[in-house]
Amino acid sequence: MSNRVIVIGGGAAGLMAAGQAAAAGAEVVLIEKMPRLGSKIAISGKGRCNLTNAGDISDFIKYYPGNGKFLYASLKQFDNQALIDFFESLGVKTKIERGSRVFPESDEAEAVINALQRFLSRHKVKVILGHTVKELLLTDGPKVTGVKFISTKNNSPEKQNDISQQEICSARAVIVATGGASYPGTGSTGDGYVWAEKTGHKVVRPLPALVPLRTSEQWPRELQGLTLKNVEVSIWVDGVKKDKQFGEMLFTHFGISGPVILTLSRIASHALAENKKVEVRINLKPALTPEQLDLRLLRDFSKFRNKQFKNSLDELLPRKIIPVIVSLSEIQSDKMANEINKKERKKLGALLQDLKLNVTATLGMATAIVTSGGVDIKKINPATMESRLVKGLFWAGEVIDIDGITGGYNLQAAFSTGYKAGRAAASAVADNN
Ligand SMILES: Cc1cc2nc3c(=O)[nH]c(=O)nc-3n(C[C@H](O)[C@H](O)[C@H](O)COP(=O)(O)OP(=O)(O)OC[C@H]3O[C@@H](n4cnc5c(N)ncnc54)[C@H](O)[C@@H]3O)c2cc1C
Repeated sequence: MSNRVIVIGGGAAGLMAAGQAAAAGAEVVLIEKMPRLGSKIAISGKGRCNLTNAGDISDFIKYYPGNGKFLYASLKQFDNQALIDFFESLGVKTKIERGSRVFPESDEAEAVINALQRFLSRHKVKVILGHTVKELLLTDGPKVTGVKFISTKNNSPEKQNDISQQEICSARAVIVATGGASYPGTGSTGDGYVWAEKTGHKVVRPLPALVPLRTSEQWPRELQGLTLKNVEVSIWVDGVKKDKQFGEMLFTHFGISGPVILTLSRIASHALAENKKVEVRINLKPALTPEQLDLRLLRDFSKFRNKQFKNSLDELLPRKIIPVIVSLSEIQSDKMANEINKKERKKLGALLQDLKLNVTATLGMATAIVTSGGVDIKKINPATMESRLVKGLFWAGEVIDIDGITGGYNLQAAFSTGYKAGRAAASAVADNN
């Protein structure tokens, strides 16, 4: 009997799974719907690919707000150092940047894809590009027996159901590494979820995460392009504070983005899906107590006593945000600085430390960096990535209900689960011989 393993999807998880299964002795066929491998890796880290994080691996779990504990076994078997060593052995030198983020030394995501391609060729993985898997084939048991796939060019609704266009590839094990539903332009259109449901797995509602946010207020649009550094941003759901982050944020033509906002966006996405009220509050001066800020304002207003209020904040705030603050403060803009009374000053201080924005929506799946939700972990064995419902069916990468924050954690999860699934699938087909 054949020891063939089919891998569906040539992203980070699928490429790692295919190479590892082949390295462990399986005959591997990888089917990818796009005309090339690794489309999402190519755009990751702004084209530089933040492939993992060099932080302490024992801290990793907490950087996955979505089911981090499920990753314990895969991170243990194939951790960040193992990943760095793996790429170095394939000729990709790496470097560590701010926040312990690991990038290829060349700053080119393509170097990572090329290395994975070399890995696949070395172990003779058969790669079928430009073909879309349509169906998983099962026997009673239930047990996987292969897949049905067609050329992506023939992917129109009429041709999909045309039997003559479909090909069958049989195998003892199938690894589904089709990614989530975010950034569908790279090929991840949620196909794996359909097969999950058909095979009895639950799919936790996929929602966009690490995604910019829209606000009902118009003023962020006036500040388009402005980055605020060293601010503290908190997120509130139905009036309850859920989290806060310190760092950098950005105003855009639709609302807010930047590292701090992306990290908080998961909470916003989940709350909005439940029709809850979401508010973001910005503390522009988190290093100061309200009393210290008041003293600072007092000093500035005294120093600029002969200037109008609108011209008295230059040393306190970035120039671009001053008109917005002046307007929100409801203090007359042409009032002389030394005429601003205590009540007005206190109100201004409170505004600077609690600038509120109502979040109306996320920017959606089209631009989300990761999908929160996916195939429920309860029916996947974390030690092998095999389905607990269907023999020979393995899951790897973002298709599973796992998501991490930015910093290299999502690619590490895809590579580690891919590693585990690949090795386990190879050993499952070998055991069957
Ligand atoms: C803009 C952007 C930047 C990012 N930057 C980083 C970063 O720097 N660091 C980090 O850790 N994470 C980053 N991420 C997240 C990370 O890239 C993903 O979490 C990771 O690539 C997921 O890998 P995957 O293999 O599970 O899925 P994908 O990479 O989505 O791969 C799935 C593959 O399956 C194929 N496929 C889908 N359905 C079928 C089918 N029916 N038949 C055949 N093939 C199919 C798709 O075409 C695709 O190639 C970024 C994401 C985005 C969108």
